[in-house]
Amino acid sequence: MLRLSSILLLAAGLIMAAWFFSPRPSVSNHLEAQEIQAAQREEFAQDRNLPKAQNVSPAAFDGERAMKYLKEICEIGPRTSGSEGMKTQQALMKKHFEAQGGKVDFQKFKANQKSAKQPIEMANTIVSYWPERTRRVIFCAHYDTRPLADQEEDPRKWREPFLSANDGGSGVAFLMELAHHIKDLNINVGVDFVFFDGEEYILEPSTDKYFFGSEHFASVYKNGRPKHKYLGAVLLDMIAGKGARFPRDPNSVMMAGPLVDSVWKVASELKCNAFVHRDGTVVVDDDHVPLNRAGIPAIDIIDFSYKHWHKLSDTPANCAAEPMDEVAKVLTVWVQRVK
Ligand SMILES: [Zn+2]
Repeated sequence: MLRLSSILLLAAGLIMAAWFFSPRPSVSNHLEAQEIQAAQREEFAQDRNLPKAQNVSPAAFDGERAMKYLKEICEIGPRTSGSEGMKTQQALMKKHFEAQGGKVDFQKFKANQKSAKQPIEMANTIVSYWPERTRRVIFCAHYDTRPLADQEEDPRKWREPFLSANDGGSGVAFLMELAHHIKDLNINVGVDFVFFDGEEYILEPSTDKYFFGSEHFASVYKNGRPKHKYLGAVLLDMIAGKGARFPRDPNSVMMAGPLVDSVWKVASELKCNAFVHRDGTVVVDDDHVPLNRAGIPAIDIIDFSYKHWHKLSDTPANCAAEPMDEVAKVLTVWVQRVK
């Protein structure tokens, strides 16, 4: 009995630990997810049944040049919210995206982190293509880096300069490269690249809150009177890890199932094997959740098996062009099919 109960205790302990350490499920119950999804179901219904023969080619995306951008961003150093590094990054992005024909806006706001003495200035960066179009889609990523590398076993290392190449850098580098091609695609809707600030401005891991930027963006959209309608959003998080794999994030499936289907269907047509046709084991709480709650169907393409997550070793050396090439193939075909 002793043995059995220790096994049971061990099992209970493991379950508790797994619950404690995994990102929190983001919806309080299935009912909420079902309501959100029912409201969105029609948006991609038209897209799902398009004939395969539709003549759409992927962009000539250059993953190696995206890697160059990734290194350039990491050379700035940490880009935590409110830091000089973030300001330098914003200036670099503004120059780059304007040179590539994007309209760049900073959506500024103040954020009050629980453990911080003062509120700080944050800004989402929004790069718009075809700004006059009222039916739009979003490609987004967070562009702040975490102040603490708190997956390092030795807490003395947590405050060392943390580059966060894949987690915070890869989405920026990917969209900087995509900017070279987006205008040449045969796209019927407007496109916004949205970079969220304050996704992980975590100074005190036990109390602090996430997702300042995406929550602000979502509330401005939901509570304002926007002239445009967002048909869908694709969030890119940790897309450049070597050997990256993208199973379907369970939260995305629950909250924006038709959009997940339409993207993973393109991946299977194009034989992009980084996209895995099963649900992931981690329910990811990320910037796509506030968007779904504001009525924008939003999914997360994320590699949660990345071994360097929140470690000092999250550097360009552990990233590669290939996963970004695959994501670009899938998304540039997908976006040309959206009506
Ligand atoms: Zn992170």
